[in-house]
Amino acid sequence: MENYERLEEIGKGSYGSVYKIRRKSDNQILVWKELDYGRMTEREKSQVVQEVNILSQLNHPNIVKYFDKIVDKEQKKIYIIMEYCENGDMAQLIKKCKTERDHVAEDVVWKIFVQIILALKECHNRKEGKVLHRDLKPGNVFFDIGNNVKLGDFGLSRILSQESEYAHTNVGTPYYMSPEQINEAQYNEKTDIWSSGCVLYEIIALRPPFEASNHLALAQKIIGGKIERIPERYSEDLQNVIEWMLSTEPEKRPSVNELSDIPKIKLRMKERE
Ligand code: ADP
Ligand code: MG
Repeated sequence: MENYERLEEIGKGSYGSVYKIRRKSDNQILVWKELDYGRMTEREKSQVVQEVNILSQLNHPNIVKYFDKIVDKEQKKIYIIMEYCENGDMAQLIKKCKTERDHVAEDVVWKIFVQIILALKECHNRKEGKVLHRDLKPGNVFFDIGNNVKLGDFGLSRILSQESEYAHTNVGTPYYMSPEQINEAQYNEKTDIWSSGCVLYEIIALRPPFEASNHLALAQKIIGGKIERIPERYSEDLQNVIEWMLSTEPEKRPSVNELSDIPKIKLRMKERE
């Protein structure tokens, strides 16, 4: 810990605060995320450590880079040190668009979308065993100083889930929950595709595809699977890919490879090579 200087707090998350930090060895600005493990079971603790080890192996330009972890036994805290994404997250962008009555240009939407797919491709097609994100939402899609898209908060949700004490304190509205999650079926890579579809819809419509005032009503809407068309100014191509990703049956949803074959995506992926 003495290798870093703690700077200002960036925000509070469900598991603890996120701080900007300076690495003393080279003055690099990074962030750390505090996890208060006083509330975790032994199993959860060892899983966090294991998960962070997997994350540190994920090396991709569209995934928030994890650098290190520090365990402070006295304070019962784990610090996860990772890349700093200067331009914030997609939830902030959506909020800004809403208050300024602005919208995200179609070309920018495709650019963001392609980078999300590239990140998921890296995870879902990994030779050493696939990694699922499990918590794709606008707040976990970050932008660096060059506005490159970086997926963050990988895998952690798997550990801090269900039985966890955290789960009980963290009862937000599950807007991005898939039909199979509602039906308590197994989470697989198609579940990540569902939530990416929700994220894509939200950056366009500036609201999630399914909304309701309580969990039950929301669950019913999600299972019904009917979505309103995205605003007129956006193309039929975008509408179609969203409908495909939001197929209620997981088997009918595209894989990352199928998404990569969509001409408008394929073209933009070539440009990034
Ligand atoms: P949540 O539990 O809601 O996912 P997080 O703990 O991930 O929240 O994040 C809390 C706040 O810190 C958010 O405002 C988020 O944008 C910000 N944040 C998290 N990670 C980073 C990062 N790597 N770079 C910049 N900001 C970050
Ligand atoms: Mg997050």
